[in-house]
Amino acid sequence: MSDKKFTAVRWALDMTALWEVAAPGDRFPVDVEKIAMEVSASRYPKDPLKAIKGGSLPGFEGALYPLGEPRDGWAIIYNNSGISEGRKRFTLAHEFGHYLAHRHDLPDGIKCDEKVVTRRNGKGIEKEADEFAAYLLMPFDDFKARIPPTEKPTLEDLLACKERYGVSLVAAILRWLDYTERRAVLVVSRDGGALWSRSSGPALNSRRFFRTSAEPFMLPDESMAVRGDYDSDGRAHAVHPAGVWFPEETEEATICYKAHDWCVTLLHLPRELRYTPPLAYHTDDVVDRFTRGSKT
Ligand SMILES: [Zn+2]
Repeated sequence: MSDKKFTAVRWALDMTALWEVAAPGDRFPVDVEKIAMEVSASRYPKDPLKAIKGGSLPGFEGALYPLGEPRDGWAIIYNNSGISEGRKRFTLAHEFGHYLAHRHDLPDGIKCDEKVVTRRNGKGIEKEADEFAAYLLMPFDDFKARIPPTEKPTLEDLLACKERYGVSLVAAILRWLDYTERRAVLVVSRDGGALWSRSSGPALNSRRFFRTSAEPFMLPDESMAVRGDYDSDGRAHAVHPAGVWFPEETEEATICYKAHDWCVTLLHLPRELRYTPPLAYHTDDVVDRFTRGSKT
């Protein structure tokens, strides 16, 4: 099969196989820059990646630019305005995914929206590039060996994965949400208002999610993210009774990044539904309450 027809995941598995040979026993964090430069030069000498560098890209997380007239190569630019090494690594992998899978369809290159890359919520080729990055940086086999699909990780477990894979905490949690068999919800908030949220498949199937596309909803007053009772590491943990976050007992682990003025909250719900309220009850009492911003 021509590699032009590879899917993003197939590309990631291909690059992972190469990296396992290049860095046996010491695969993580994956050196995306090294793989990208070496693979493009050896496989595609007529239009290789010639540069990977930081630049000012207001509103964008990264970009893939064509070089030369006629074109004889490409450059990856990442937004270097205060982003972490973890975000940078994911962005480089995302743009490398565009280079491998999409450059033939992008003669003018592409600039990638910050939210699409950090929240992994893009569509079409953006979704494909995000999948490529997630598969390359955080292979399922390795991640599942650390946190099996049925296991409930602590925030510390996920912070250890963030360190191992050299990504942001949010990227590590999103990857775990991709495969966990548990019901869990990620909420990213600022000043008590949720900016966005993501549920695991089992949580979504049991209708445990928050709508954040229209406007931010206010987190419950009782939540640790609002109360702000953090330890010296900016972390807080509590088990809330039914009715605080959801109609069932919910375990909350929150970490607050004061420097960035935002909080990352992970909610664990019980494995088995002990009580399944009618949809109307859930909609009226939880989702709508949040979306209205009421804290009754
Ligand atoms: Zn993109």
